[in-house]
Amino acid sequence: MIHEKSLIRPENLKTHDKLVLDGVDVSGHWSTFIQSRVVTDYNEALQEEIAALPGGEHIHRCWQCGSCTNSCTVHAVNPDFNPRYWIYLIRLGMESELLRDKDIIWQCVSCNKCTYACPRDVFPEGVMKATAHWLELQGHTPKSKSTIFDEEFTQQVVETGKIEDGRVIRNFFAKTGQPLMQDWLVAMAKRVARRMPVLLGIKMGLAAVFRPRTRGWDKHRVAIEEYVAGQDAKHRKALHISPSPLGEGRGEGP
Ligand code: SF4
Ligand code: SF4
Repeated sequence: MIHEKSLIRPENLKTHDKLVLDGVDVSGHWSTFIQSRVVTDYNEALQEEIAALPGGEHIHRCWQCGSCTNSCTVHAVNPDFNPRYWIYLIRLGMESELLRDKDIIWQCVSCNKCTYACPRDVFPEGVMKATAHWLELQGHTPKSKSTIFDEEFTQQVVETGKIEDGRVIRNFFAKTGQPLMQDWLVAMAKRVARRMPVLLGIKMGLAAVFRPRTRGWDKHRVAIEEYVAGQDAKHRKALHISPSPLGEGRGEGP
């Protein structure tokens, strides 16, 4: 049963402007009733699916104390952001209710206040990440910009064993349809350039052109790619969705 009025759909809240019962005036909010409804589309595997994704492993420990939501940075500015409530929906398998909030779940800023407040070591920050990952894998939400950034960053590290910041930013902007010449970026680049030793500037310029790689990186790259593909295959299998080209033909890894 949902006890928080803010979480009940407005159309299911009924009040009487004028109502007197046994001589007692209960007009207005004193006469609020919650219209019952029947939910039939449970996803009984939902908790298992979230628990199969990184960060969601301990969701079963939650005892609904609400400390995560009370301590949450995002909840303080947007009361609709409610980790405790989403964990409750996931544990009950109420997928359609969870999907109503699909456009805000990814807004978790990973501050981990909830993780420190949780008395049951649920690791709510991880559950938020796992839930956002689940939404993406199930095709309920497009990739967020932060996911695209993560992918670009990771791809460079995996390919070369190094990271070249300028290229990450250029590719990220290109993939998200943003112009490269943004005021804040130009201002930051000017400030950095003023303080940067000349030699370091030359090194960075050469790195942008020649894309240096870590020596002997190939064997590490192959191992990382196999691991990533294995994890992807494992997660998709847990969610009963078809393998991606990344994971096809690969083992599930450790
Ligand atoms: S990590 Fe996410 S869910 Fe936890 S307190 Fe921070 S913003 Fe809220
Ligand atoms: S703080 Fe932990 S136990 Fe309490 S509601 Fe949040 S996840 Fe559940």
